[in-house]
Amino acid sequence: MEIDNYIKIKSELPEPITLVAVSKTQQLNDIQQMYNLGQRVFGENKVQELVEKYQTLPKDINWHFIGHLQTNKVKIIAPFISLIHSIDSGKLLFEVNKEAKKNNRIIDCLLQIYIAKEETKYGFSVEEVNNFLLSEAFKELENVRIVGVMGMATFTEEKKQVMNEFSSLKTIFSQFKENYFADKLYFKQISMGMSQDYHLAIEAGSTMVRIGTLLFGS
Ligand SMILES: *Cc1c(COP(=O)(O)O)cnc(C)c1O
Repeated sequence: MEIDNYIKIKSELPEPITLVAVSKTQQLNDIQQMYNLGQRVFGENKVQELVEKYQTLPKDINWHFIGHLQTNKVKIIAPFISLIHSIDSGKLLFEVNKEAKKNNRIIDCLLQIYIAKEETKYGFSVEEVNNFLLSEAFKELENVRIVGVMGMATFTEEKKQVMNEFSSLKTIFSQFKENYFADKLYFKQISMGMSQDYHLAIEAGSTMVRIGTLLFGS
């Protein structure tokens, strides 16, 4: 792992911003080393890999799921996952609610919003979220808690475009907050920013950055 980068990023990050150390594909001992430096929040994007790491590494790690999640795999992570960043359909959220209930838990989730120009990124459109949050079915979900939004900018060197996309997510967050979560203090997270664009994301109002390559090397 890149200890100097870890220490630098930790010291630069404004206090309320959560650093999610993206440990996908990384070895157990590298993750353990970062844990030993005090890191407790790690992000994974593959269910099987996450479960193996969860079973082996210290139990006080907060595991975040950050990749596309298939509904048939929700049950595997439902007993222990601390935050799912990547809710990209109503169907998935219903499944998380069902499995959370079986485990007698309330699982925190972020709505992944489609902000990039690229076609391949998963996520809700704003219109889909509006329809969904207004539906009766959503109001009946008791075992999930929507704590904010997540987005990924287009993979480009064009800083202006990336900044526009992050700013649009911030605006979308504020609208959802006002329209649906005005009295919900827990609706406060904007998960945006990765190794190459986290400075811009923070400028645009990120509360959670997801950093892999800079911390672990590529
Ligand atoms: C891999 C990944 C990251 C981390 O990306 P880096 O460029 O390695 O910092 C962040 N978010 C998601 C959803 C990822 O899949």
